Amino acid sequence: AVPKKVVPALPPVGTGKLRITHPERVIDPGTGFTKLDLIEHYARVAPLILPHLKARPVSLVRAPDGIAGEQFFQKHAEATSIPGIKLLDPKFDPGHDPLLEIASAETLLAATQLNVMEFHTWNATTKAIDKPDRMIFDLDPGEGVAWCQVQEAAQLVQAFLKELGLPCFLKTSGGKGLHVVVPLKPLHGWDTVKGFSQAIVQHLARVIPERFVAKSGPRNRVGKIFPDYLRNGFGATTVCAWSVRARPGMGVSMPMAWEELGKLKNAAHWDVRNIGERLSTGNSPWSAYENLRATLSSAMQAMDFKP
Ligand code: ATP
Ligand code: MN
Ligand code: MN
Repeated sequence: AVPKKVVPALPPVGTGKLRITHPERVIDPGTGFTKLDLIEHYARVAPLILPHLKARPVSLVRAPDGIAGEQFFQKHAEATSIPGIKLLDPKFDPGHDPLLEIASAETLLAATQLNVMEFHTWNATTKAIDKPDRMIFDLDPGEGVAWCQVQEAAQLVQAFLKELGLPCFLKTSGGKGLHVVVPLKPLHGWDTVKGFSQAIVQHLARVIPERFVAKSGPRNRVGKIFPDYLRNGFGATTVCAWSVRARPGMGVSMPMAWEELGKLKNAAHWDVRNIGERLSTGNSPWSAYENLRATLSSAMQAMDFKP
């Protein structure tokens, strides 16, 4: 029998026609992944990633010479000329060129054709740019931390948030760590959310100092995990679910169910090669997300946190 083609053909997306230049160019020398693999990934996940990009300012990581070359992190319109990209109201980020939004599959693919590999989003939407609608704990393992300790740390964060009455959702970063996301009603300002997330991390580092550290910087976290609360500041971004990483192996940031945590072999468990079986699972591990949006008031009270 003829073996099945491993990479499925590019599915039709909308009506736009995308002209792909240099589809055969290898962008990840370690795996041999090509520019076409990248674009096909985004074509396949377009319906799954678009809800995560919707109405959110996005930052782009461009890698014109592949993952081994120089990378460019772009937040504003300046040098960007991606067909169809939405320029947001300049009032959202005064004193800068407009922020960007990707609102369609056509624009998503046009961006990847222009060598955008990663998509990072804000914690607030354009409906209420001053009021974050999520709080993120970006679990960053220091040198010498075993994967099982990262898994355990995620569980500890989940357990503590639960004690505070806060729901949370899990995704891999596609790199080294895990992201724990608390869905919020957009009620509190940036400083409150960031300050409270810092208080939570300081508490964790106080009660489990052998595992957690509340200070950023690689030297502080040797053998420990820094739950990076700095992702919660105004204008800070975190890699979007379903985004590829411009790192060796091209991991993918994957929304997971908490029950799946134990089975993960690392944060780049899912990558552009094995993601196929996840396409039908889609965003279902996060299906309760919208209904569980929380307010922080009683959690802040429980921790005696004054905004
Ligand atoms: P890992 O699991 O390996 O930590 P990560 O995506 O969580 O992967 P971090 O280094 O923890 O990576 O986070 C970096 C964050 O900084 C990203 O969320 C990104 O949105 C943000 N960021 C801000 N400026 C830049 C920049 N110039 N280049 C890359 N990332 C940037
Ligand atoms: Mn991280
Ligand atoms: Mn980090």
